[in-house]
Amino acid sequence: MPEAIDRARRELLQLGALCASLPLAARAAGASGAGWAPLAQLGYRQLRLAHGPMLNQAQENHALLLNMDEDALLRPFRLRAGMAAPGHDMGGWYDTYAFAPGATFGQWLSALSRYYAITGDAPTRAKVQRLVRAYAATIEAEGRFYQDNRFPAYIYDKLVGGLVDARVLAHDATAVRELHRTTAAAEPHLPSHAMPHNDNAKPGEDFSQHAWDESYTLPENQLLAWQLTGDAHHRELARRFLYDDFFGPLARGENVLPGKHAYSHANCLSSAACAYLALGTPRYLEAARNGFEMIDAQSFATGGWGPAEHFIVPGSGGLGESLKEETRSFETPCGAYAHFKLTRYLLRITRDPRYGDSMERVLYNTVLGALPIRSDGQAFYYSDYTRRATKGFFSERWPCCSGTLPMIAADYAISGCYTDSTGLYVNLYVPAQVSWRQGSAACGLAIHTAYPHAPDIRMTVQVQSPQSFTLYLRIPAWAAGARLRINGRSAGAPPQPGTFAAIRREWRAGDRVELELPLAVRLKSVDPQHPDTVALLAGPLVLMRLVEPGPVPAASLTRAELLSARRVGPGAQAWQIDAAADRVRLHPFIDISGEHYSAYQDVHAA
Ligand SMILES: [Zn+2]
Repeated sequence: MPEAIDRARRELLQLGALCASLPLAARAAGASGAGWAPLAQLGYRQLRLAHGPMLNQAQENHALLLNMDEDALLRPFRLRAGMAAPGHDMGGWYDTYAFAPGATFGQWLSALSRYYAITGDAPTRAKVQRLVRAYAATIEAEGRFYQDNRFPAYIYDKLVGGLVDARVLAHDATAVRELHRTTAAAEPHLPSHAMPHNDNAKPGEDFSQHAWDESYTLPENQLLAWQLTGDAHHRELARRFLYDDFFGPLARGENVLPGKHAYSHANCLSSAACAYLALGTPRYLEAARNGFEMIDAQSFATGGWGPAEHFIVPGSGGLGESLKEETRSFETPCGAYAHFKLTRYLLRITRDPRYGDSMERVLYNTVLGALPIRSDGQAFYYSDYTRRATKGFFSERWPCCSGTLPMIAADYAISGCYTDSTGLYVNLYVPAQVSWRQGSAACGLAIHTAYPHAPDIRMTVQVQSPQSFTLYLRIPAWAAGARLRINGRSAGAPPQPGTFAAIRREWRAGDRVELELPLAVRLKSVDPQHPDTVALLAGPLVLMRLVEPGPVPAASLTRAELLSARRVGPGAQAWQIDAAADRVRLHPFIDISGEHYSAYQDVHAA
């Protein structure tokens, strides 16, 4: 394939999720102020997950979407357009006049396109094409779909994302035309400006009189649509919906999070990061960075945030208070999806490994432990961090989280590694085969590891001829005592926690890189107001205590007892504490199914 076409195709492959090939205003401006370009994201097929829970989650979501009944998916669009609509109702939030009619359709179209990009599976692409055509037949000039609709901007935005991904990732040539028709139909029904979640809503009100809408990621997807089509109208829509009333204070360092809907506003920060990349406006980067810091400061040890879906007042002890009764601790698939997207942007722009640390925490302690979506639409929504928690499904079928779980599981492929002109950044240590081009040379890296259940990560370099480049390895901030060996020999000074360890050399085929990240056991208080309510961590993992059902509280432990936790056996994912009167068992969130568990423990003095 001629190099220019290959390059254009690779750029297109990247575009769906990242703004990587936007006109690079930020690159001209010197992203992050350090004079470097943002790291590039790999294409969906350039990091192939090997066997493990991430691949399992991706495959089960792919299968779920492939098996969805297409007439049922189309029903809200057909009925609202006054068309005949064979098939059954999906139920839950999805139905024609339900809470959010067809809201997840665009997300599922995105996810299917991403799974096609990952697998090259022909039936997946065929399904994308059938869905685009069937949806296209429901678009009519008056935009009746958006009338008497609580969420015109929210649903339009998801459709834009789906159609952009259908074009870029599943190569559906008709999707651009349908994107144009969709925008023309939706635009008269959109709010005039960025619409904060639920601001105008009253219980039982007639929402046909005004929208109760969420337009938070609309600028992000409009900027992607602009990049794809070159149509400046998308850029203007992006500008119209940039949430400056939120971004302005954040950029000035004012914490305006308290009381705001957590997922929506975290997700909104991706619009700011994308706007920085696309438009080059520094205050949008400041808003995204500061917003992330403020969220991080009110996060649970798991990396989750937003008890009861809302941000708390900093310094209020609200996180610790929430553990008493609030079972809705973190809106898990949606929150994790937003968190991954934001930390990808910020990591790429700043090269600060803390964003990778944060992404990793959210991965292993939240979304990877989500129950699979059932074919009838029952979906995992909240993580529960109360003292006797269980995993369960949301009260209504097909909620928002059934749209985001299939997308984040696909996005594992674009979250692990990044490149620049000097080399490869390894952000997530997951069993995988990575392929990229360093200059004109095809390079590969095979990653073998049971991390974070074991400290060792083995990587093998694959090159056809010796190649000089740098491997940048994320050393988590907690990883004191990390060790690095190249071909069995110590690689010089020990790698520093909280940095990317950079190894520049002429790499040869079969060169071995061995990284050891000691999975230190430690305690972390939920907040300063509740110093004796602690999470037990081993590396990035929160170890959650299995507890008996029933009213009797679990016996409290001392800090020393908690810190004596050991794996039940070599390589085991379960842990136990023998020092206590009763043997205490602990599992990472991934390995909890029907058990009762406590994410936090109350400690007492010895
Ligand atoms: Zn959700």
